[in-house]
Amino acid sequence: MDSRDNKEKIYDMIVLGAGPAGLSAAIYGGRAQMSTLVIEPRMAGGEITLTDRLDNYPGFPEGISGFEFGLLLEKHAARFGAEMVSTFVERVEPEGRVKKVITSSGAFFGQTLVIATGTAPRTLGVPGESIFTGRGISFCATCDGPLFRQKRLAVIGGGDAAVEEALYLSRFAAEVILIHRRNTLRAVPYLQKKLSENPIIKFLGETVVKEFKGNQKLEKIVLKNVTDNKVSEISVDGAFLYIGRVPSSGFIDGVEKDSQGYIITNEAMETSISGVFAAGDIRQKVLRQVVTAAADGAIAATMALKYIQNNLTLTGYKNVT
Ligand code: NAP
Repeated sequence: MDSRDNKEKIYDMIVLGAGPAGLSAAIYGGRAQMSTLVIEPRMAGGEITLTDRLDNYPGFPEGISGFEFGLLLEKHAARFGAEMVSTFVERVEPEGRVKKVITSSGAFFGQTLVIATGTAPRTLGVPGESIFTGRGISFCATCDGPLFRQKRLAVIGGGDAAVEEALYLSRFAAEVILIHRRNTLRAVPYLQKKLSENPIIKFLGETVVKEFKGNQKLEKIVLKNVTDNKVSEISVDGAFLYIGRVPSSGFIDGVEKDSQGYIITNEAMETSISGVFAAGDIRQKVLRQVVTAAADGAIAATMALKYIQNNLTLTGYKNVT
Protein backbone atom coordinates (compact mmCIF):
# COMPACT_ATOMS: atom_id res chain seq x y z
CA MET A 1 0.00 0.00 0.00
CA ASP A 2 1.16 3.52 -0.74
CA SER A 3 2.28 5.02 2.56
CA ARG A 4 0.69 8.30 1.50
CA ASP A 5 -2.76 6.71 1.12
CA ASN A 6 -5.56 8.92 2.45
CA LYS A 7 -7.37 5.70 3.34
CA GLU A 8 -9.17 6.94 6.40
CA LYS A 9 -11.86 8.37 4.13
CA ILE A 10 -13.83 6.82 1.32
CA TYR A 11 -15.66 9.62 -0.46
CA ASP A 12 -19.09 9.05 -1.96
CA MET A 13 -17.86 10.74 -5.13
CA ILE A 14 -14.45 11.76 -6.41
CA VAL A 15 -14.52 14.21 -9.29
CA LEU A 16 -11.45 14.52 -11.50
CA GLY A 17 -11.30 18.01 -13.00
CA ALA A 18 -12.69 21.33 -11.81
CA GLY A 19 -14.08 22.73 -15.04
CA PRO A 20 -17.79 23.41 -15.59
CA ALA A 21 -18.56 19.65 -15.80
CA GLY A 22 -16.62 18.70 -12.67
CA LEU A 23 -17.82 21.62 -10.58
CA SER A 24 -21.44 21.10 -11.65
CA ALA A 25 -21.10 17.48 -10.53
CA ALA A 26 -19.66 18.76 -7.23
CA ILE A 27 -22.55 21.22 -6.80
CA TYR A 28 -25.11 18.46 -7.37
CA GLY A 29 -23.19 15.94 -5.27
CA GLY A 30 -22.66 18.32 -2.36
CA ARG A 31 -26.26 19.47 -2.45
CA ALA A 32 -27.37 15.82 -2.34
CA GLN A 33 -25.27 15.39 0.84
CA MET A 34 -22.69 13.18 -0.85
CA SER A 35 -19.17 13.53 0.50
CA THR A 36 -17.45 14.95 -2.56
CA LEU A 37 -13.80 15.51 -3.40
CA VAL A 38 -12.70 17.45 -6.49
CA ILE A 39 -9.13 16.89 -7.69
CA GLU A 40 -7.64 19.51 -10.02
CA PRO A 41 -3.98 20.39 -10.62
CA ARG A 42 -4.59 23.90 -11.92
CA MET A 43 -6.93 26.70 -10.92
CA ALA A 44 -10.60 25.84 -10.54
CA GLY A 45 -12.89 26.73 -13.43
CA GLY A 46 -11.01 24.83 -16.13
CA GLU A 47 -10.27 26.06 -19.64
CA ILE A 48 -13.15 28.53 -19.57
CA THR A 49 -11.14 30.71 -17.18
CA LEU A 50 -8.77 31.32 -20.12
CA THR A 51 -11.60 32.67 -22.27
CA ASP A 52 -12.07 36.39 -22.37
CA ARG A 53 -15.83 36.31 -22.55
CA LEU A 54 -18.37 33.54 -22.12
CA ASP A 55 -21.09 34.77 -24.39
CA ASN A 56 -23.53 31.90 -24.76
CA TYR A 57 -24.21 30.55 -21.28
CA PRO A 58 -27.90 31.01 -20.44
CA GLY A 59 -28.66 33.64 -17.82
CA PHE A 60 -25.80 36.00 -18.64
CA PRO A 61 -27.31 38.26 -21.32
CA GLU A 62 -24.28 40.55 -21.37
CA GLY A 63 -21.82 37.62 -21.22
CA ILE A 64 -19.41 37.06 -18.35
CA SER A 65 -15.62 36.85 -18.19
CA GLY A 66 -14.42 33.24 -18.21
CA PHE A 67 -12.25 33.94 -15.18
CA GLU A 68 -15.16 35.33 -13.15
CA PHE A 69 -17.38 32.43 -14.20
CA GLY A 70 -14.75 29.94 -13.00
CA LEU A 71 -14.55 31.64 -9.61
CA LEU A 72 -18.34 31.56 -9.27
CA LEU A 73 -18.44 27.84 -10.07
CA GLU A 74 -15.81 27.13 -7.44
CA LYS A 75 -17.63 29.22 -4.84
CA HIS A 76 -20.89 27.49 -5.66
CA ALA A 77 -19.39 23.99 -5.22
CA ALA A 78 -17.71 25.05 -1.95
CA ARG A 79 -21.04 26.36 -0.64
CA PHE A 80 -22.43 22.83 -0.87
CA GLY A 81 -19.45 21.36 0.96
CA ALA A 82 -17.36 19.93 -1.86
CA GLU A 83 -13.71 19.52 -0.84
CA MET A 84 -11.04 20.51 -3.34
CA VAL A 85 -7.48 19.29 -3.56
CA SER A 86 -4.89 20.74 -5.89
CA THR A 87 -2.72 17.91 -7.17
CA PHE A 88 -1.88 15.86 -10.29
CA VAL A 89 -3.65 12.59 -10.93
CA GLU A 90 -1.04 10.02 -11.90
CA ARG A 91 -3.20 6.93 -12.29
CA VAL A 92 -6.65 5.61 -11.55
CA GLU A 93 -7.69 2.13 -10.51
CA PRO A 94 -11.36 2.32 -11.46
CA GLU A 95 -12.41 -1.31 -11.18
CA GLY A 96 -14.02 -2.72 -8.06
CA ARG A 97 -16.30 -1.22 -5.44
CA VAL A 98 -13.76 1.26 -4.12
CA LYS A 99 -12.12 3.40 -6.79
CA LYS A 100 -8.53 4.42 -6.17
CA VAL A 101 -7.08 7.67 -7.48
CA ILE A 102 -3.30 7.89 -7.22
CA THR A 103 -2.07 11.48 -7.18
CA SER A 104 1.21 13.23 -6.47
CA SER A 105 -0.22 13.89 -2.98
CA GLY A 106 -1.06 10.26 -2.25
CA ALA A 107 -4.05 8.06 -3.02
CA PHE A 108 -7.72 8.94 -2.59
CA PHE A 109 -10.65 6.55 -2.47
CA GLY A 110 -14.25 6.90 -3.61
CA GLN A 111 -17.35 4.81 -4.10
CA THR A 112 -17.91 6.56 -7.39
CA LEU A 113 -15.75 8.46 -9.81
CA VAL A 114 -16.67 11.27 -12.20
CA ILE A 115 -14.06 11.88 -14.89
CA ALA A 116 -14.30 15.48 -16.06
CA THR A 117 -10.74 16.17 -17.16
CA GLY A 118 -11.67 17.83 -20.45
CA THR A 119 -9.23 18.34 -23.26
CA ALA A 120 -5.80 19.86 -23.89
CA PRO A 121 -4.65 21.88 -26.93
CA ARG A 122 -3.59 19.92 -30.01
CA THR A 123 -0.11 20.72 -31.26
CA LEU A 124 1.12 20.93 -34.86
CA GLY A 125 4.22 18.79 -34.37
CA VAL A 126 6.36 20.91 -36.71
CA PRO A 127 10.00 21.93 -36.14
CA GLY A 128 10.44 24.82 -33.74
CA GLU A 129 7.03 24.41 -32.08
CA SER A 130 8.28 23.06 -28.77
CA ILE A 131 11.39 25.29 -28.80
CA PHE A 132 9.35 28.49 -29.10
CA THR A 133 6.40 27.51 -26.92
CA GLY A 134 6.46 30.15 -24.19
CA ARG A 135 8.90 32.17 -26.30
CA GLY A 136 6.43 33.58 -28.79
CA ILE A 137 4.17 30.56 -29.29
CA SER A 138 1.15 30.47 -27.01
CA PHE A 139 -2.01 28.43 -26.59
CA CYS A 140 -3.78 31.12 -24.54
CA ALA A 141 -4.65 34.48 -26.04
CA THR A 142 -6.30 35.71 -22.84
CA CYS A 143 -3.15 34.99 -20.83
CA ASP A 144 -0.54 36.23 -23.28
CA GLY A 145 -2.37 38.54 -25.70
CA PRO A 146 -1.82 41.73 -23.67
CA LEU A 147 1.96 41.14 -23.93
CA PHE A 148 1.77 41.74 -27.68
CA ARG A 149 0.47 45.31 -27.88
CA GLN A 150 0.93 46.78 -31.37
CA LYS A 151 2.71 43.61 -32.55
CA ARG A 152 2.21 41.36 -35.56
CA LEU A 153 0.60 38.06 -34.60
CA ALA A 154 -0.43 34.84 -36.26
CA VAL A 155 -3.35 32.70 -35.18
CA ILE A 156 -3.43 29.17 -36.57
CA GLY A 157 -6.74 27.32 -36.98
CA GLY A 158 -10.16 27.78 -38.49
CA GLY A 159 -12.63 26.76 -35.78
CA ASP A 160 -14.58 28.77 -33.20
CA ALA A 161 -11.58 29.01 -30.88
CA ALA A 162 -9.19 30.37 -33.54
CA VAL A 163 -11.64 33.00 -34.76
CA GLU A 164 -12.78 34.02 -31.29
CA GLU A 165 -9.21 34.40 -30.07
CA ALA A 166 -8.12 36.24 -33.24
CA LEU A 167 -10.92 38.72 -32.54
CA TYR A 168 -9.71 39.07 -28.96
CA LEU A 169 -6.09 39.61 -30.03
CA SER A 170 -7.14 42.28 -32.53
CA ARG A 171 -7.84 44.52 -29.52
CA PHE A 172 -4.10 44.64 -28.75
CA ALA A 173 -2.17 43.74 -31.88
CA ALA A 174 -1.29 45.93 -34.83
CA GLU A 175 -2.04 43.03 -37.18
CA VAL A 176 -3.41 39.51 -36.78
CA ILE A 177 -2.97 36.95 -39.55
CA LEU A 178 -5.39 34.04 -39.33
CA ILE A 179 -3.74 31.04 -40.99
CA HIS A 180 -5.99 28.14 -41.93
CA ARG A 181 -5.34 25.00 -43.93
CA ARG A 182 -8.56 25.40 -45.96
CA ASN A 183 -10.33 28.34 -47.55
CA THR A 184 -13.53 27.73 -45.62
CA LEU A 185 -13.70 28.35 -41.91
CA ARG A 186 -15.27 25.86 -39.52
CA ALA A 187 -16.26 28.65 -37.09
CA VAL A 188 -19.96 29.50 -36.65
CA PRO A 189 -21.42 32.20 -38.97
CA TYR A 190 -21.75 34.70 -36.10
CA LEU A 191 -17.99 34.64 -35.51
CA GLN A 192 -17.22 34.64 -39.24
CA LYS A 193 -19.31 37.81 -39.63
CA LYS A 194 -17.40 39.52 -36.83
CA LEU A 195 -14.16 38.42 -38.46
CA SER A 196 -15.11 39.87 -41.85
CA GLU A 197 -15.89 43.20 -40.19
CA ASN A 198 -12.55 43.39 -38.38
CA PRO A 199 -9.91 45.52 -40.17
CA ILE A 200 -6.99 44.24 -38.05
CA ILE A 201 -7.37 40.58 -39.01
CA LYS A 202 -6.16 39.22 -42.37
CA PHE A 203 -7.19 35.75 -43.50
CA LEU A 204 -4.61 33.45 -45.09
CA GLY A 205 -6.39 30.31 -46.32
CA GLU A 206 -5.12 27.08 -47.86
CA THR A 207 -1.89 27.54 -45.94
CA VAL A 208 -0.10 25.26 -43.50
CA VAL A 209 2.74 25.91 -41.07
CA LYS A 210 5.95 24.07 -41.94
CA GLU A 211 8.28 25.48 -39.27
CA PHE A 212 8.70 28.10 -36.55
CA LYS A 213 12.02 29.96 -36.62
CA GLY A 214 13.82 32.49 -34.45
CA ASN A 215 16.75 33.00 -32.10
CA GLN A 216 15.90 33.70 -28.46
CA LYS A 217 12.24 34.02 -29.39
CA LEU A 218 9.91 33.35 -32.29
CA GLU A 219 10.63 35.57 -35.30
CA LYS A 220 9.36 33.81 -38.42
CA ILE A 221 6.88 31.21 -39.59
CA VAL A 222 7.60 29.11 -42.66
CA LEU A 223 4.37 28.53 -44.58
CA LYS A 224 3.29 26.37 -47.48
CA ASN A 225 0.39 27.11 -49.79
CA VAL A 226 -1.41 23.79 -50.21
CA THR A 227 -2.69 24.53 -53.73
CA ASP A 228 0.58 25.46 -55.45
CA ASN A 229 3.03 24.09 -52.81
CA LYS A 230 4.80 27.45 -52.73
CA VAL A 231 6.85 27.96 -49.55
CA SER A 232 7.15 31.41 -47.97
CA GLU A 233 8.14 33.05 -44.68
CA ILE A 234 6.35 35.68 -42.65
CA SER A 235 7.77 37.71 -39.77
CA VAL A 236 5.71 37.63 -36.58
CA ASP A 237 6.14 38.56 -32.93
CA GLY A 238 3.88 35.82 -31.68
CA ALA A 239 1.79 32.85 -32.79
CA PHE A 240 -1.34 31.49 -31.13
CA LEU A 241 -2.28 27.90 -31.88
CA TYR A 242 -5.95 26.94 -31.93
CA ILE A 243 -6.09 23.77 -34.01
CA GLY A 244 -8.49 21.82 -31.87
CA ARG A 245 -8.09 19.78 -28.74
CA VAL A 246 -7.24 16.27 -27.59
CA PRO A 247 -8.94 14.47 -24.70
CA SER A 248 -7.07 14.31 -21.37
CA SER A 249 -7.87 10.64 -20.83
CA GLY A 250 -4.44 9.02 -21.02
CA PHE A 251 -4.17 8.45 -17.25
CA ILE A 252 -7.19 6.15 -17.11
CA ASP A 253 -7.21 2.63 -18.51
CA GLY A 254 -10.11 0.24 -18.60
CA VAL A 255 -12.95 2.60 -19.56
CA GLU A 256 -14.06 2.32 -23.15
CA LYS A 257 -12.83 5.16 -25.37
CA ASP A 258 -13.27 5.99 -29.04
CA SER A 259 -10.39 6.03 -31.52
CA GLN A 260 -9.51 9.62 -30.52
CA GLY A 261 -9.47 8.85 -26.79
CA TYR A 262 -12.85 10.39 -25.86
CA ILE A 263 -14.63 8.34 -23.18
CA ILE A 264 -17.80 6.61 -24.32
CA THR A 265 -20.83 6.99 -22.05
CA ASN A 266 -24.55 6.50 -22.27
CA GLU A 267 -27.02 9.34 -21.60
CA ALA A 268 -26.71 8.71 -17.87
CA MET A 269 -22.96 9.49 -18.15
CA GLU A 270 -22.14 5.89 -17.20
CA THR A 271 -18.90 4.58 -18.65
CA SER A 272 -18.19 0.92 -19.36
CA ILE A 273 -17.06 0.50 -15.73
CA SER A 274 -19.56 0.25 -12.91
CA GLY A 275 -19.57 3.35 -10.67
CA VAL A 276 -17.40 5.36 -13.06
CA PHE A 277 -19.01 8.28 -14.88
CA ALA A 278 -17.64 10.80 -17.38
CA ALA A 279 -18.87 14.35 -17.97
CA GLY A 280 -18.04 17.30 -20.20
CA ASP A 281 -15.58 17.59 -23.06
CA ILE A 282 -13.82 14.32 -22.19
CA ARG A 283 -16.91 12.42 -23.41
CA GLN A 284 -17.63 11.39 -26.95
CA LYS A 285 -20.45 13.89 -27.73
CA VAL A 286 -21.84 16.20 -30.40
CA LEU A 287 -21.52 19.61 -28.71
CA ARG A 288 -18.63 20.63 -26.46
CA GLN A 289 -19.78 23.80 -24.75
CA VAL A 290 -19.99 25.03 -21.16
CA VAL A 291 -23.74 24.54 -21.09
CA THR A 292 -23.51 20.88 -22.14
CA ALA A 293 -20.59 20.27 -19.76
CA ALA A 294 -22.62 21.64 -16.84
CA ALA A 295 -25.58 19.45 -17.79
CA ASP A 296 -23.34 16.37 -18.02
CA GLY A 297 -21.93 17.08 -14.56
CA ALA A 298 -25.40 17.37 -13.05
CA ILE A 299 -26.46 14.05 -14.61
CA ALA A 300 -23.25 12.28 -13.57
CA ALA A 301 -23.61 13.29 -9.92
CA THR A 302 -27.30 12.36 -9.89
CA MET A 303 -26.52 8.94 -11.33
CA ALA A 304 -23.60 8.49 -8.92
CA LEU A 305 -26.02 9.04 -6.04
CA LYS A 306 -28.46 6.51 -7.53
CA TYR A 307 -25.62 4.05 -7.91
CA ILE A 308 -24.76 4.36 -4.21
CA GLN A 309 -28.42 4.24 -3.12
CA ASN A 310 -28.93 1.07 -5.13
CA ASN A 311 -26.19 -0.56 -3.08
CA LEU A 312 -23.89 -0.63 -6.03
CA THR A 313 -26.21 -2.95 -7.94
CA LEU A 314 -26.12 -0.85 -11.12
CA THR A 315 -23.39 -1.88 -13.47
CA GLY A 316 -21.65 -0.07 -16.31
CA TYR A 317 -23.79 0.94 -19.26
CA LYS A 318 -22.93 -2.20 -21.15
CA ASN A 319 -24.84 -4.28 -18.63
CA VAL A 320 -27.89 -2.04 -18.27
CA THR A 321 -30.84 -3.36 -20.23
P1 NAP B 1 -12.23 22.65 -33.88
O1 NAP B 1 -13.62 23.11 -34.03
O2 NAP B 1 -11.94 21.19 -33.92
O3 NAP B 1 -11.35 23.39 -34.98
C1 NAP B 1 -10.01 23.09 -35.14
C2 NAP B 1 -9.49 23.85 -36.33
O4 NAP B 1 -8.10 23.59 -36.46
C3 NAP B 1 -10.16 23.44 -37.62
O5 NAP B 1 -10.39 24.57 -38.43
C4 NAP B 1 -9.13 22.50 -38.26
O6 NAP B 1 -9.11 22.57 -39.66
C5 NAP B 1 -7.83 23.05 -37.74
N1 NAP B 1 -6.83 22.00 -37.58
C6 NAP B 1 -6.94 20.82 -36.93
N2 NAP B 1 -5.80 20.13 -36.99
C7 NAP B 1 -4.95 20.88 -37.70
C8 NAP B 1 -3.61 20.71 -38.13
N3 NAP B 1 -2.91 19.63 -37.79
N4 NAP B 1 -3.04 21.69 -38.86
C9 NAP B 1 -3.74 22.80 -39.18
N5 NAP B 1 -5.00 23.03 -38.81
C10 NAP B 1 -5.60 22.07 -38.09
O7 NAP B 1 -11.57 23.14 -32.50
P2 NAP B 1 -11.82 24.46 -31.63
O8 NAP B 1 -11.94 25.66 -32.45
O9 NAP B 1 -10.79 24.39 -30.55
O10 NAP B 1 -13.23 24.18 -30.96
C11 NAP B 1 -13.40 22.99 -30.16
C12 NAP B 1 -14.84 22.94 -29.66
O11 NAP B 1 -15.07 24.00 -28.74
C13 NAP B 1 -15.85 23.10 -30.79
O12 NAP B 1 -16.94 22.27 -30.51
C14 NAP B 1 -16.25 24.55 -30.69
O13 NAP B 1 -17.56 24.81 -31.17
C15 NAP B 1 -16.14 24.82 -29.20
N6 NAP B 1 -15.85 26.24 -28.96
C16 NAP B 1 -16.90 27.07 -28.90
C17 NAP B 1 -16.71 28.42 -28.69
C18 NAP B 1 -17.90 29.31 -28.60
O14 NAP B 1 -19.01 28.83 -28.61
N7 NAP B 1 -17.76 30.60 -28.51
C19 NAP B 1 -15.42 28.93 -28.60
C20 NAP B 1 -14.34 28.06 -28.70
C21 NAP B 1 -14.58 26.70 -28.90
P3 NAP B 1 -10.32 21.99 -40.55
O15 NAP B 1 -11.44 22.98 -40.42
O16 NAP B 1 -9.73 21.91 -41.90
O17 NAP B 1 -10.64 20.64 -39.97
